[in-house]
Amino acid sequence: MNLTELEQTLVLIKPDALKNSLTGYVLSQLSEFHTALRFAGAKIVQVSQMLAEEHYAEHRGKGFYPSLIEYIRGNVHYPNEPDKRRVVAFVYQGPGAIQKIRDIAGPTNPHNARDNKPGCIRALGTIVPIKDEAGNFLGDRMDNLIHASANLGDAEREIKLWFRPVDIPPLMRLYATVKCQEHYYLKNNQLLTSYEQGSLLLVAPGDIVWQSDLEALQLLHKGLPSPCSIQTVAAKYLINESTEND
Ligand code: ATP
Ligand code: MG
Repeated sequence: MNLTELEQTLVLIKPDALKNSLTGYVLSQLSEFHTALRFAGAKIVQVSQMLAEEHYAEHRGKGFYPSLIEYIRGNVHYPNEPDKRRVVAFVYQGPGAIQKIRDIAGPTNPHNARDNKPGCIRALGTIVPIKDEAGNFLGDRMDNLIHASANLGDAEREIKLWFRPVDIPPLMRLYATVKCQEHYYLKNNQLLTSYEQGSLLLVAPGDIVWQSDLEALQLLHKGLPSPCSIQTVAAKYLINESTEND
């Protein structure tokens, strides 16, 4: 099987879809019958601040960024029910997976989606004006129900951010993995290789990890430049671990 056959994409069912009971609808739109794609991974994630910031790193500094982070964390749709704040994350695999799911999701802006692609998933989304405390209009928040990776590079970054290798069956893993030989802990945004009070375990000897994560941890621990930050690696290995670090 060639790499195009194995193409993978990350799909997130966002908190507005969960709140409106659209999970089943979205999954049926993406079903193997309609798309010829298969699940390679699935998980329910309570989205930490660190994970939200890593996922939407490309939007840091934009006007809508703070509300986007609140939205993906579920704080907007479940302000008083923290236990319901979650996202459902999937890896879909198969020929043309990225473009197929982008097409079914539709345009980013739900109003455009309704106008230009009626019937797509995001046509069921909404736009909410963001205002400051004085009521001044700051911009829009686009509640568009679903995230889908935009291209091969984003798909790799995002799948490695949301999924550990062991969340994906061995024969469905697309990216290189290695067996970890060391402990790595996080404490106050610093990497440690031995336990200190208050540190959080990221990976331990024997864990199967993405090779790129282990290479990054080794470089970062030596204080050398790395293709990604401590937070990028830590965000995933702490998924659903603890809320203390939020
Ligand atoms: P996603 O990454 O969620 O699949 P996308 O790739 O279609 O969506 P991006 O440009 O990556 O769009 O934006 C990520 C998310 O940020 C969007 O889904 C939307 O919720 C929000 N967003 C993007 N652009 C704007 C904007 N101009 N104003 C408000 N929110 C925006
Ligand atoms: Mg995007």
